[in-house]
Amino acid sequence: MANKIRVTIWNEYVHEVYEDAVREIYPLGIHGCIKEFLEKLDVNGELEIRLAALADPDQGLPDEVLNNTDVLMWWGHCAHHEVDDGLVQRIKARVYDGGMGFIPMHSAHMSKPFREILGTSGKLLWGEDQHEFIWNVRPGHPITAGIPEHIELDKEEMYGEPFMIPQPDELLFISWFEQGYVFRSGCTYHRGRGKIFYFQPGHEYCRSFYNEYVQRVLYNAVKWAAPNDFGCPMHNCDMRGSLV
Ligand code: ZN
Repeated sequence: MANKIRVTIWNEYVHEVYEDAVREIYPLGIHGCIKEFLEKLDVNGELEIRLAALADPDQGLPDEVLNNTDVLMWWGHCAHHEVDDGLVQRIKARVYDGGMGFIPMHSAHMSKPFREILGTSGKLLWGEDQHEFIWNVRPGHPITAGIPEHIELDKEEMYGEPFMIPQPDELLFISWFEQGYVFRSGCTYHRGRGKIFYFQPGHEYCRSFYNEYVQRVLYNAVKWAAPNDFGCPMHNCDMRGSLV
């Protein structure tokens, strides 16, 4: 087949290192868990996946990695402030000019790249873990392929409205929590040449990344967010960021 989709899963990788309870849930790290299920779902071998973490050299994303990433997945929570501002600008440029897909998950709503790329504070209403229904409000969309009318999670951290985001291009999922809160839990955006999908589940103390439908949504999202136009005759460059 043609070029593989080069996926980089970035995780701050702090909770799993310092908190036993989190490491018990995600012994490979959240990024390792995501890599494992994406590879399981990738039955046709279309993905080429690598891992990156905050403690890695160049915070896991030197130019050589970032410029060869088609889709960047992002999980961060307690170390948002440690992410280098110059790196954030390079990520933004890869999305806007290079067409790189960007998939911020869960608490990445407060990450620097999310806020910079979307131009928002990313703030939301927050509450204790509770039962969640994620309603599929856009059946037929590539990201909701194979997803039933709702995904039920035994326990997730409550994220509620108002969620301070720009109006999504497409709203794919709306969540309901058992205490009555609602949340726009799956949103797509286009910024420059790049596609962005935010998805809410994934608290480090919950097991949502083991849910088969959460996994399917993220797999679908990787394929949707991948650049599908590798030629740019006007600028005589390719969409993967290198001049030809
Ligand atoms: Zn959380």
